[in-house]
Formats: sequence, C-alpha cells, structure tokens
Amino acid sequence: MRAWIAAVALPFALVMATHAQDAPTVSEAARRLHHDAFVFDGHVHMINRQLHLGGSIGDRLPDGQVDLPRMKEGGVDAFMMTLYVMEPYYPARYETKQTLRLMNMALDQIERNSAVVELARDADDIARINRAGKMAAVLDLEGSFDLDGDLDVLRALHRLGLRVVQLPAHNWGNEYADSCCAPARWNGLTDHGRAVVREMNRLGIVINVSHASDATLAQALEVSTDPIVATHHGLRSLNDIPRNMPDDLLKKLAAKGGVIGFHIGNAFHNRAQFDWLTKQAGKPFWDTSEVAGDRSRLSMAEIDRRVAPQFPLVEPRAPDDLLMSVDDWVGVVDRAIQLVGEDHVALGSDFDGGPTPAGRIRDVRDLALITEAMIRRGYSEARIRKFLGGNLMRVFRQVTSKAR
Ligand SMILES: [Zn+2]
Repeated sequence: MRAWIAAVALPFALVMATHAQDAPTVSEAARRLHHDAFVFDGHVHMINRQLHLGGSIGDRLPDGQVDLPRMKEGGVDAFMMTLYVMEPYYPARYETKQTLRLMNMALDQIERNSAVVELARDADDIARINRAGKMAAVLDLEGSFDLDGDLDVLRALHRLGLRVVQLPAHNWGNEYADSCCAPARWNGLTDHGRAVVREMNRLGIVINVSHASDATLAQALEVSTDPIVATHHGLRSLNDIPRNMPDDLLKKLAAKGGVIGFHIGNAFHNRAQFDWLTKQAGKPFWDTSEVAGDRSRLSMAEIDRRVAPQFPLVEPRAPDDLLMSVDDWVGVVDRAIQLVGEDHVALGSDFDGGPTPAGRIRDVRDLALITEAMIRRGYSEARIRKFLGGNLMRVFRQVTSKAR
C-alpha cells in the first residue's frame, strides 16, 4: 500500500512550502504597468485542495501558491479555475462523478467568496466582473469529464458553466484522444474524438491541448473551426520532453489564431532541474501509468483517502543553482515570440499544480517580476499587455461569444 501511495504521490512530494522567502522588490514602472494591465492566467489549480482538505479559497493559506488574497496581490484579473480529475479516479470509472463533485465545489467556493470573485461564462462577463473590482473565474477541466467523451455529459457541464476542456485525459489517454505521456492507442483522435472537438466548437468551449500527444494536437487543429489553446506548456526545442510542444505544431496552432500559455515551472523549460526532478522521483513527472493502469476497483472514499495527503501539490525544490532566473523564463517566451509573433503567447502558471517557479517568484504574489523582466528585455507595453492577458482574452472571446 505504501508503494501505491508513493506512486500516486509522485511527482508531488509532500513538501510544505514553508521556506519563508522575503518579498522580492519590483520596480515602480513594472508594478504600475502590471497592476494596470489585464492579467489572465490560463491555468490555476484550485478547488481540488478544498474538496479534499476543506477551507476556503478566500482565506490566505499558510502554504501552497494560490488563494484569492494572494492572487489579488499578484494583480490577477481573470483566471482559468482548474478542476483536476486525477488519474486514480479512472480505473474504477469515477471520472464523471469526480468532475461533478469538483464542479459543485468550484461553484460553492465562488459563491462563498462572491465579494472577491465571480463565475465568468464569456468575455463580456469578465469585463463586467472586473469593472465591479472582482476577479473573474472561468471553469476549466483538466483530465477527462468522461473517458468515453459522452456529448450529453459535455453539454450538461457546459450548462453548469464549464468553458475550457482538455482533450486527452491529463497524462493518461481516454477512449477518444491520446495523451502526450501514455502509450498511444488511437494515433491521435478517434472519429468520436473529432465529434467531441466539433461539439466543443458548437457549444463555445475552449479546447485545451496541453497534455495532448502531437498527433492529437495536429488532428484537433485540422478539425476545429475555432482557435485552440495550450493553457500551460513549454517548448520542445528548449527541453525535449513529450509534454512540450514542437516548433512546427506551435506554428500551426498560431496560424489558426491560437495561444500557448507558458508554465511557470522550471521542469518544463529548464533541463537541469527537469533531470534533477526525474532522478528524485525515479521517473518523469508525467508518468502516471501505475495509477491510471491500476485495475483494482477501489471505493471512491478509499481513493479520496489516498489522494488527500498530496495537497498542496508542491514538487520537491531543486538546489538553487539548478533553477532558472525570471529573465531565463522570459527568454522561453521570447523564443516563441521569435517563432510565431507576439499575438500567440500567454501566461498559464499552473500554480498549485506542483511547479517550482522561476527565479525569485515565491508564488502568485510575485507575477509582476515577469512584467519587470519583460521591460528589462525591451518589450513594448503593448506586447507585455498581450502576453499578460490580451491574447488569451481574444481567443476566449472568439470561442465563447457564440454561446450568448
Ligand atoms: Zn496540467
């Protein structure tokens, strides 16, 4: 059983983020621009923690990387509130039930904190919510809503407010789409997978291809009539791992008007830290084969019990000399801009999804350090605003406006 728990707990070690780092200083120019800009984070892990540990996203938490008070300090105006249907729920086919539990918890948490945050169903909602001085939460599903991709389930979730859905089932495939990080079964999308893409287009759901295999991504781009987003990603040309995107597919994604959101963590962009992490865990961070492939039919309560100790999800921290600086991190975004231009890059932090952030970034409070590094690199204010939120908003508006 210990081995099972260890397998589930990987790649996230039970490391409490207790290192009391001092608040980094940010230039006045960066602070002003950052807080004036519309900041839209494409991937923020919330809600799973509250489902398993209780508590409120409105409270300042003693650990982890996000909560509403810290997000406010980080200048966040809108975010994709990620509901993560974890792999241990797949073998006994609890994924749809787990999706509903997470949806309910998310709506509950938003309601409890209605003075600070509101649910956004489209771009006009985001603008209205921001005008009222609140943050806008967009419901985003990571992992499969249903491994079979039942279109009625998808429609029901859309009615409840779900607006972003990942195509494959996180690091494990499903019955219609291959993941980046498990053995390919379909060579991309099945015919039904193509129907799921078309239904997302029809409903006005943003298609997220983070965790998709190259073939899944390429085929989704062929089928979809809407731009596609990779909400939390990296570049394979800088770190050759299957979880990152090759340059040719990034060019196709951009040609279709899509956006790549850059993951805040070292493991995606920095080979030295990735290798260190892989050595610590004994396998790459995306390998969930032991868990998702487990055929024992456990009760939901038993899975909950085994999963709960992983929160907050924080990966082990590599020695400082292996970590990248914020300037190095902006260099990753810069390489994408050189490839596809400034209209196709965004922020997709994955805070509380495990990352060790670049440089002096402690957590979501320090996002302005990115703005500062972009100013240092000589980026125009317009370019910085596109990266921080403008580009993601453009796609979100285009995809969801038809639902009105
Ligand atoms: Zn993810």
